[in-house]
Amino acid sequence: MRYSGWKVLLEGLRGNRGWKPVWRDPAPKAHYDAVIIGGGGHGLSTAYYLAKNHGLTNIAVLEKGYIGGGNVGRNTTIVRADYMLPGNAEFYSHSLKLWEGLEAELNYNVMLSQRGIIRLFHSDGQRDAFVRRGNAMINQGDDAVLLDREGLREQLPYLDYDQARFPVHGGLLHPRGGTARHDAVAWGYARAADRRGVDLIQNCEVTGIDVEGGRVRGVQTTRGVIRADKVAIITAGRSGQVAAMAGMRLPIESHILQAFVTEGLKPVIDHVISFGMGHFYISQSDKGGLVFGGDLDFHSSYAQRGNLPMAEHVMEAAMTLMPMIGRARVLRSWGGIMDMTPDGSPVIDRTHIDGLFVDCGWNYGGFKAVPASGWCMAHLMATGESHEVARRFRLNRFATGHLIDEEGSGSQHNLH
Ligand SMILES: Cc1cc2nc3c(=O)[nH]c(=O)nc-3n(C[C@H](O)[C@H](O)[C@H](O)COP(=O)(O)OP(=O)(O)OC[C@H]3O[C@@H](n4cnc5c(N)ncnc54)[C@H](O)[C@@H]3O)c2cc1C
Repeated sequence: MRYSGWKVLLEGLRGNRGWKPVWRDPAPKAHYDAVIIGGGGHGLSTAYYLAKNHGLTNIAVLEKGYIGGGNVGRNTTIVRADYMLPGNAEFYSHSLKLWEGLEAELNYNVMLSQRGIIRLFHSDGQRDAFVRRGNAMINQGDDAVLLDREGLREQLPYLDYDQARFPVHGGLLHPRGGTARHDAVAWGYARAADRRGVDLIQNCEVTGIDVEGGRVRGVQTTRGVIRADKVAIITAGRSGQVAAMAGMRLPIESHILQAFVTEGLKPVIDHVISFGMGHFYISQSDKGGLVFGGDLDFHSSYAQRGNLPMAEHVMEAAMTLMPMIGRARVLRSWGGIMDMTPDGSPVIDRTHIDGLFVDCGWNYGGFKAVPASGWCMAHLMATGESHEVARRFRLNRFATGHLIDEEGSGSQHNLH
């Protein structure tokens, strides 16, 4: 079924009785050419591009819970291409271009809203660093505009510019950055992959990975053994646990990141604002809620919930930056498990086991990577070669020293 404005109108007139389930609910087959562990954004996009770009259709995505129940449905939906270092810059630039055509590609409204992202700066030194980053973004073919204090005030009149700790001096605007609807991205890729013949198998937890003679042979699951020629571990915060099933120890720590949403308000915040010095960022959802978050919780964990001291810290940062927010009521908060690497950059690579691949290490920025990650992982799985925009995301860089230390925090994520 193709979606269109006419279809919505017609169904409205017919009492919405004509909508069909968006994807099938197949039983697992005994054998697949490729099995993807993890039905998050990255697993689904990999399955879709394997089918679409490389013609592989005998594929299963195995998800232990339900599609969209992981981080793909828990993030604060920011999409951007404002990275500076080679490796990340070309990858996220490619991803943003894919985002810009995604709704037509998937025939699904992912609600991409390029409302612009503004990163605030608070000193001359920080301004110089942002000028450098902005130039790197422009050289990469993306966009960046430096706003001085008055230019910023025109865009964001409600900030407290003269706060004692971090007076606001200006901002770096990335006009093509913005937000998308997280669930819709998962559902859009799931539907599009299903339409190309991919089996999406929910409530199917992988409990073991079968390796014989240095080659992957399949997986053990709560729904039986599934044989496969290729297996991809794409399980975000659980990557370390799943890789351990194949005897591997990944350079990943799992940490909690929380998000908060207020009651619905009239449009008040037009952009995404990032207040890095205060560990705070915010945007407004299409339903009107202010969506905001801060830094990682201070301990590693597999719990999908956060602790109260971090909630207090985030609220304090919000009040520091925009005291008006004190009048809004927070309705909901939740946590997700972040797969943190020592250099803050991801891995898209094969492993030492033939036929076994990993796509992980998305830290707290993997939502915007969903299209390019799937594109590049599919390329790697189908051709055996890294895609040119992901060629630096190698697993062995932590041994060889070819780090992409964008985050600049080193291995102590909880201390930066
Ligand atoms: C609060 C918060 C805010 C964030 N904000 C942003 C943002 O603004 N912008 C941005 O770019 N990124 C953001 N992120 C990060 C982003 O959400 C993640 O990097 C990204 O979603 C991870 O990839 P995924 O979608 O594939 O993960 P997931 O959706 O977590 O997918 C992994 C799946 O693997 C499944 N799985 C695990 N183990 C097994 C198993 N043994 N068998 C079968 N299935 C298994 C899980 O159930 C899960 O569904 C944020 C994250 C959080 C939590």
